[in-house]
Amino acid sequence: MKLYICADMEGATGIVHRDQLLDEGGARYVAGCKLLTADINAAIEGAVAAGFDEAVISEGHAHMRNVVLEDLHPAARLIRGPATFVNKPLCQVAGLDESFDLAFFVGFHSRAGTPKGLLSHTWAGAIVHEITVNGVVFGETAINAAICGTFGVPVGLVCGADDVAREARADLGDVEVAVTKKAMGFNIAECWGPAATRVRITEAARRAATRHQGGAFKPFTVGTPVVAELETHRREMADRMGVVPGLERVGPRRVRAVAERPADALSMLWHAVTEAFHEPAGWLK
Ligand SMILES: [Zn+2]
Repeated sequence: MKLYICADMEGATGIVHRDQLLDEGGARYVAGCKLLTADINAAIEGAVAAGFDEAVISEGHAHMRNVVLEDLHPAARLIRGPATFVNKPLCQVAGLDESFDLAFFVGFHSRAGTPKGLLSHTWAGAIVHEITVNGVVFGETAINAAICGTFGVPVGLVCGADDVAREARADLGDVEVAVTKKAMGFNIAECWGPAATRVRITEAARRAATRHQGGAFKPFTVGTPVVAELETHRREMADRMGVVPGLERVGPRRVRAVAERPADALSMLWHAVTEAFHEPAGWLK
């Protein structure tokens, strides 16, 4: 059986601050990469214990080259490289197809606007105020689950702080969750160490992989046509998004993508975000 892992970083064990998430953090960033890699390996351990023999990880944070390859579980392969639109039209989800049996989300965080949420944002904190799909607010958990669902791949496990665990259960139903820390605010959490979270993640992954074989998880679906909307923080960002073919402007800071498949509508929104990245950096701070 073949496992797909989408790996972000904010939800990994011990991560609470920007300096653990970006190169500029130096030694703290390097330590953060090791913590993330340990969480991913723990999830693979659990799946392998329940019969999976193959895992592909799609890196989904910042420049998308964070996992420590030298430490990677031998059953895994790693897709790394930046999320330019031409490289990754589905942003954090790369290399996914119908051949995968089950998806895990590791290192995930709560969506933009989550009260007291830890490092909460959706795709790009400087640009995205809110994303909705068919009128429902989506964070990265629901976005990526809908993309996996487009390919018929169900999600069985979400790992991160307790706020994203609640979000995952609310959005996806009875999936397994592995809580790495308790969110107390944007840059503060009560954290367990890797010795504790490793066991927790492996056990949750083993349960998810076992439950999957009993048919517990269904691909996440949304009604069609899929109407996906994105509200930016600033009007100029929505102006720039006007270059994306087919994207409608539906408000001063709001754009809309309509498609039959969730992956296609969300891909148009990701294209729009990558366009906004090209604007001068002054107002992106
Ligand atoms: Zn991230």
